[in-house]
Amino acid sequence: AAAAAAAAESLIKDAEPYTPPTGSSAFEYEAEVHKMLDIVVNSLYTNKDVFLRELISNASDALDKIRFLSVTKPELLDSKKELEVKIEYDPDNKTLTIRDTGIGMTKDDLIKNLGTVARSGTTNFVKALGDGAADVSMIGMFGVGFYSTFLVADRVTVASKSNDDDTQHIWESLNGEASFHVGPDPRGNTLGRGTEITLHLKEDAEEYLSPYKLKEMIRHYSEFVTHPVYLREIKT
Ligand code: ADP
Ligand code: MG
Repeated sequence: AAAAAAAAESLIKDAEPYTPPTGSSAFEYEAEVHKMLDIVVNSLYTNKDVFLRELISNASDALDKIRFLSVTKPELLDSKKELEVKIEYDPDNKTLTIRDTGIGMTKDDLIKNLGTVARSGTTNFVKALGDGAADVSMIGMFGVGFYSTFLVADRVTVASKSNDDDTQHIWESLNGEASFHVGPDPRGNTLGRGTEITLHLKEDAEEYLSPYKLKEMIRHYSEFVTHPVYLREIKT
């Protein structure tokens, strides 16, 4: 509730009312997921860098999956040949984007994987945080690393295109809301295949627009990633 109030307050401050993506539908987060989000976002944990580790790790997993499947079915790569991660920072729009050409997610995958189905680790993570047995940086070990994006973002937009879905869909959620939105991407199929995560950074997270900071983090977190990871600035 406190997070929702803070999200509402930040919207008022920005004088920019939220409009969900055109043609999207709202879905409620599963109750345990919502509770975990609330705790993570309101924790006093200060090392927020972990969000990039989690996103690079998800991108790498998604690339590993399509690479593995393509060994026996090379045509799976026809939708996009390159296997890579591209990270873009946009100082004017205050966004950070992580795009991979991995396996992607269907509309159903977006709804299930990012909100409506609690993963087995969700409750354990909430318990461990409460007991002091875990801290926020351990989020990835509980299988809910994606949600660390809300440590640094007011709004998170995920666009994804899977070979198993003719349409590219987007998932979007405001920090602190009990629901998220999923619908067709108004831009159409821009990805070919893969997933693009756009973080609309919080005011106190603008350090993640610094190329020096980003380069250092990427070097650190992609050490064991076997796919190329690129960084570039978007000028608007
Ligand atoms: P974990 O990676 O431990 O499974 P996460 O919370 O990081 O947990 O991600 C949840 C799920 O969302 C993943 O298991 C995967 O199915 C899906 N997912 C997240 N990021 C991506 C991505 N970049 N590409 C494809 N699927 C993804
Ligand atoms: Mg993960």
